[in-house]
Amino acid sequence: MTITTTRPEPASADLGTDPQEPAGRRVLTGDRPTGPLHLGHYFGTLRNRVRLQRQGAELFVVVADYQVITDRDIADRLAEHSENLVIDYLATGLDPESATIFAHSAVPALNQLLLPFLSLVSVAELGRNPTVKDEIAHSRQSSVSGLMFTYPVHQAADILFCKADLVPVGQDQLPHLEVARTVARRFNERYGAGIFPRPRALLSEAPLLPGTDGGKMSKSRGNAIALAADEDETARLVRGARTDAERRISYDPAGRPGVAGLLQLAALCQDRTPGQLAEEIGNGGAAALKRTVTEAVNEHLRPIRARRAELAADRAHIRQVLRTGAERANAVADATLAEVRAAMGAVGSA
Ligand code: ATP
Ligand code: MG
Repeated sequence: MTITTTRPEPASADLGTDPQEPAGRRVLTGDRPTGPLHLGHYFGTLRNRVRLQRQGAELFVVVADYQVITDRDIADRLAEHSENLVIDYLATGLDPESATIFAHSAVPALNQLLLPFLSLVSVAELGRNPTVKDEIAHSRQSSVSGLMFTYPVHQAADILFCKADLVPVGQDQLPHLEVARTVARRFNERYGAGIFPRPRALLSEAPLLPGTDGGKMSKSRGNAIALAADEDETARLVRGARTDAERRISYDPAGRPGVAGLLQLAALCQDRTPGQLAEEIGNGGAAALKRTVTEAVNEHLRPIRARRAELAADRAHIRQVLRTGAERANAVADATLAEVRAAMGAVGSA
């Protein structure tokens, strides 16, 4: 699998390559417990997380529960969704012995970093963030909350509390990552302390996997194929995907986004190229394409789904993973907050 290191701004010569080995790296990633993880997460970030862990990086994975209420009034079925995220993590290969998996709300010092960090960004900068704009457009709320507006700064606290230098994300997160980089740089400049590294984004070969409607596959947009879906449901979702009436299947992302998205999905599952698959399907039309995709997805996910079912039978273990993770994350967050307060000259710093 091809991994590219990137950053959201152009002219990123310093980030064009990634000279460091994963061993010794700190990696932070996370997801909102708004629903089951889907193939966009899997190919967009989960596989990279597992790969980095296997290569010796130290992983922090946040179940971003406070961030659920950025775009909705109530965090519906929060405990259930949070536990399901952990089940998906473990089923796809994350090892909780070495990865620190924790919920936002269980780590107070992480959240307290938000206060000094908010002072480092202007309201105008926050208003220009394209991902915040997109999330506001899809929000379930009629007005924009302060939490939604400051979402990227909260995410900077997630990344910087553990001094992560690498963040495997999907493309939609690049503007947020840029905020974290800005916060790190400005904090270091303002307080004369090299406390924070400047984190880098790590994109996979599928940084923006489309859903069944052609838009970004999202938990909250009704267009996702969940890792937890069964084989029949997967077939039904793929059958309902938007395609076109042309019989000859070709890989043309700009002209035929629906067909291209499905080809990309099957290709990722089978470790082949979308072009090869298109050739093979030839004049079979959308029906043959969808059959191929369904089989490819179901086959690829079969072992993960089996493991998922085993893990789901022991919820006490999943809750224990979160408790252990919170303990470790709290120790790290307390130490970082103490450094921040000392750098600021706060009286009463430990
Ligand atoms: P929601 O609709 O609730 O915002 P989501 O599906 O966008 O859910 P998040 O929890 O917001 O999921 O994102 C978690 C991580 O997964 C982020 O790094 C994000 O970039 C990545 N990701 C989400 N959807 C995709 C996708 N379709 N393709 C690639 N990466 C994705
Ligand atoms: Mg999202």
